[in-house]
Amino acid sequence: MDDPRAHVAHVPAQRGPADDSPWHSNAACRRDEAGLFFAPSKEPTAARLAREEQAKRVCARCPVLLECREHALLQPEPYGVWGGLTAAERRVVLARRRRREQELREAARVGSQIAAAG
Ligand code: SF4
Repeated sequence: MDDPRAHVAHVPAQRGPADDSPWHSNAACRRDEAGLFFAPSKEPTAARLAREEQAKRVCARCPVLLECREHALLQPEPYGVWGGLTAAERRVVLARRRRREQELREAARVGSQIAAAG
């Protein structure tokens, strides 16, 4: 990564000193100096894949992985590795969630119709 402090740039405001919540103060990437979490401009694909795998290895031992991942999914964060997932992987998770929610709504609607016909 171009800026060795760039990993800090993905730390959202609520992980700042004003709100030192446990999930951000315990983030394993806070001490990362390698800039693994965001792509430098014009990064070749092979380099990106290798960097993302390294970032994911940091995430895998991070005590706040689930909190970080949920934050990135809810925002949603469009760039970088968060909670062990790349941006593309988060898009897949979000699409699956939307599909699942749609299925549940449809099941509830059908259930209501069956109950009303009762
Ligand atoms: S899960 Fe990964 S991106 Fe999130 S705080 Fe931990 S090390 Fe950083």
